[in-house]
Amino acid sequence: MSLKSSNSDFIRTGACLCKQITFRVVGPELNFAICHCTNCRRNCGSAYTANAWFPDSQFEWTTGESLLKQHDDALTETGGVVHRFFCTNCGSAMMTRSFRMPGVSIIPSGLFDGPQVWKPDYEQWRRSKVNFVDRVNGVKNESRYDEFPDTREFERVWGKL
Ligand SMILES: [Zn+2]
Ligand SMILES: [Zn+2]
Repeated sequence: MSLKSSNSDFIRTGACLCKQITFRVVGPELNFAICHCTNCRRNCGSAYTANAWFPDSQFEWTTGESLLKQHDDALTETGGVVHRFFCTNCGSAMMTRSFRMPGVSIIPSGLFDGPQVWKPDYEQWRRSKVNFVDRVNGVKNESRYDEFPDTREFERVWGKL
């Protein structure tokens, strides 16, 4: 697969901890979401996830795709299955796919090379957040949700797909 790119698009790259799996994305993210839910905490082993979303057409694995393993996470609040991919060599969480967001590659921002200049759009599942986190900088007050976001957050995203 090769990604379409034009002069106005920029390319970002990223990798797992052992660097055997690498990827690249073309152009800007659709969305940048903070999730405080219990499953995301377990998946990343930290206080919350901070994920960048890209249309599948903007994302590609560049090396090591065969090292990915998919875990089907059915222990979710809604019972819907969320697919979580990780590196079988080093254990890094690499991608999430959700039935709620078809056609979207959800990538942990910590995997990206270079400066981390993300702008968070919203926080979700604040009901489950750890006590030492109050609020994430840059998120508007109306975009801090106790559970899933209001649908208007997604209308913005679908307009770009
Ligand atoms: Zn790895
Ligand atoms: Zn979550």
